[in-house]
Amino acid sequence: MLNKMRLLTPGPTPLPEKVRLALALDMIHHRKPEFKAVMLEVQQKLRRLFGTSQEVLPLACSGTGALVASMQGLFAPGEKVLVVQGGKFGERWVEIAASHGIAATVLMVPEGCAVEPAAVEAALQADPEIRGVFVQLCETSTGVQHPVREIAAITSKSSALLVVDGISGVGITPCPMDEWQLDCLLTGSQKGLMLPPGLTLLALSPRAWAKAESVKSCNYYFNLPLERANIVKGQTAFTPAIGLLVGLNESMNLFMEAGLENIYRKQWALCSMARTGIEAMGLRLFAPDHFAWGVTSVCMPGWADIQTNPADSSKTPETPGLKASAVLAEAAAKFNVVMAGGQGAFKDRIVRVGHMGWIDWADLAAGLHALYESCNACGAGLDNRASGDYLEKALAAYWRALKNGYII
Ligand SMILES: *Cc1c(COP(=O)(O)O)cnc(C)c1O
Repeated sequence: MLNKMRLLTPGPTPLPEKVRLALALDMIHHRKPEFKAVMLEVQQKLRRLFGTSQEVLPLACSGTGALVASMQGLFAPGEKVLVVQGGKFGERWVEIAASHGIAATVLMVPEGCAVEPAAVEAALQADPEIRGVFVQLCETSTGVQHPVREIAAITSKSSALLVVDGISGVGITPCPMDEWQLDCLLTGSQKGLMLPPGLTLLALSPRAWAKAESVKSCNYYFNLPLERANIVKGQTAFTPAIGLLVGLNESMNLFMEAGLENIYRKQWALCSMARTGIEAMGLRLFAPDHFAWGVTSVCMPGWADIQTNPADSSKTPETPGLKASAVLAEAAAKFNVVMAGGQGAFKDRIVRVGHMGWIDWADLAAGLHALYESCNACGAGLDNRASGDYLEKALAAYWRALKNGYII
């Protein structure tokens, strides 16, 4: 391959050299002082990342494991919860609730849109028996950021706990758990944290801990009170993902050296760059408002009804627009840029350009170029005049945003 491989997917992401070197270190034993020291050190850094004074539990599993752990650890079968469903990951909460006998009221949100906090408030008022609200910080399948802070202002005044899937948000967009009064915040290793997959992190508020202690554990592996009793000693109940935790300590060093504020500024600048470049090409953004900071979703030309009629399967395959899979294959083959398509009904209708983790402006410039050229190679016929222009505009937007800082 003549081109360097650029992984511009919404997880996994490329890894910094320092993290890769930490991952290559000799194995250490998890019941020995050397490991305990790493755990206690990383714990302090994680609390800063999460913005919490509470313990941050590491669990060895993919991100979905933490979704299961929070649902089963906080709610008993028969209890009622409210789930915001605006994409694939919202849907996953619904499926997890069902698998555990928890009654989920589903608050449907059109794909590409964020939930209205007032709708959450109305749903809680309509059913006072709802014990928890589940939402994504970023719905990675659509590239939408939900207004978690505003939702927390509602749930913190109610008896319902707010559980936030921050898998594609923590370390990417500000989400200070204690200040915003979230009850559970969780994330995975392979998105903003610049690590391979296989590790998740989960923190609870004091009132969520009280609830967790009162729920009879139905899951032998995910036992939150047991994990908390261990983590205060720098331990975990079972063999932890030792290598990933050593790598996490290094990635947290990079975060702390850079400063969280600067990480968020950079993410904001990258997302401004992506959005400006994509619009300058003549392509449409799938989530024009309330957009995620780590992934930008782009409508493929020809799917005009994409937002108003997302599940309209009559459009496939007889009258399709440009197929995302063809564009992605071209970008990978010709430019060695790897991006993602949509999920579910949106598989071929959107391209998701990831810009989270160890990604910088030059990687994203390569991604935008690959997107533009690949769309045209597949027959999009994007305006030629845009070709000299969109990168210039995108880069100008990046440096401008970096200077001006972000807006929450
Ligand atoms: C990636 C992701 C998940 C799923 O994580 P896995 O590691 O694939 O289990 C869940 N929620 C969100 C918001 C994600 O971005």
